[in-house]
Amino acid sequence: MKFATRAINAGQEPDPSTGAIMTPIFQTSTYAQSGLGEHKGYEYSRSGNPTRTALEECLAALEDGKYGLAFASGLAAENTILSLRNAGDHLLSCDDLYGGTYRLFERVMKRYHVEANYLSATASVQDYEKAIRPNTRMLWLETPTNPLLNLVDIRALAEMAHQHKQIVVVDNTFASPYFQQPLHLGADIVVHSTTKYINGHSDVIGGALVLNDAELHEALKFHQNAAGGVPGPFDSWLTLRGIKTLAVRMRQHAENAMSVARFLSEHPRVEKVYYPGLPSHPDYELARRQMSGFGGMVSFQLKGTYDDVARIVRRFEVFELAESLGGVESLVCHPASMTHASIPREIREARGMTETLLRLSIGIEDSEDLLADLEQTLA
Ligand code: PLP
Repeated sequence: MKFATRAINAGQEPDPSTGAIMTPIFQTSTYAQSGLGEHKGYEYSRSGNPTRTALEECLAALEDGKYGLAFASGLAAENTILSLRNAGDHLLSCDDLYGGTYRLFERVMKRYHVEANYLSATASVQDYEKAIRPNTRMLWLETPTNPLLNLVDIRALAEMAHQHKQIVVVDNTFASPYFQQPLHLGADIVVHSTTKYINGHSDVIGGALVLNDAELHEALKFHQNAAGGVPGPFDSWLTLRGIKTLAVRMRQHAENAMSVARFLSEHPRVEKVYYPGLPSHPDYELARRQMSGFGGMVSFQLKGTYDDVARIVRRFEVFELAESLGGVESLVCHPASMTHASIPREIREARGMTETLLRLSIGIEDSEDLLADLEQTLA
């Protein structure tokens, strides 16, 4: 089945007892058992819940993977992967990461003696290979990155990393499974903040892991239950509902984002635009190879100072100033003071996340209204 059909149907059959087309919200913590050890597959909703099962099967289908696991947030999903590590392990990552992932590595995992190193956006496969240490166990990639829309070559890095017996993780939140399928490119685990495009309506916090390996799935499923960062049935249901329109939403996000990126790249008040769909993007060719579309996120550097940025963000009428992304509505964010504030300033600035960088999550409104709003805001 093709993507849009899977998004609507995978994991979901009409309810056998009533014929209800929509998967019911099984708002229950526990399940009656007919005798000791005799039940219908569910015992307690941390270990399993039928609404969550439907979501997990659907998530797996979106990434064309065998197993899906749903979590209470993207970071709970990430933390579950990191629970597989032992004290003394090392992991390699790219240096333009979501701030919360960086904080998890630096301020949580470090306390358990798991260390991370970060390579720049321009690092080659050989640079990554050289950075592998005897205790390196995992390669953690985010592509495109948040907020600078850098890309890394998943296929080339996964091939190299597998020769060194590394587990390859790809955070696919920005692209969404509609535009990029990392398992097909060699990744072992795909992670999502389903809070973003997958749910798509800015009304749920959630996370997901998708993978093909049965042993790895068993280990992650064990941690999902043992540590307990699971989503509730209502959030699982809302996410399932959001997924049904993922394909049409992503097409519109990307079409609008391309119009905005082109508009900004010709605007005299704009210093630089970051969008992988612009031929001027350094990874444009890789984006065309690795992704089937360029997504809905556009970042740009404004000419001027922090004060100019602070003035401008108050002038938006359609875009709202808010954290998060991937919802149907357009949002503007100032990474340095919002989503990426947890990264120390010197590190942030060295990576290009300056005070004049703004990140736009382009919604699916009429693009003419988005361009008009940018026009009047930047005037
Ligand atoms: N990964 C990326 C790329 C993100 O942008 C985010 C959140 O912004 C996360 C992971 C964390 O997800 P959550 O906020 O659902 O915990």
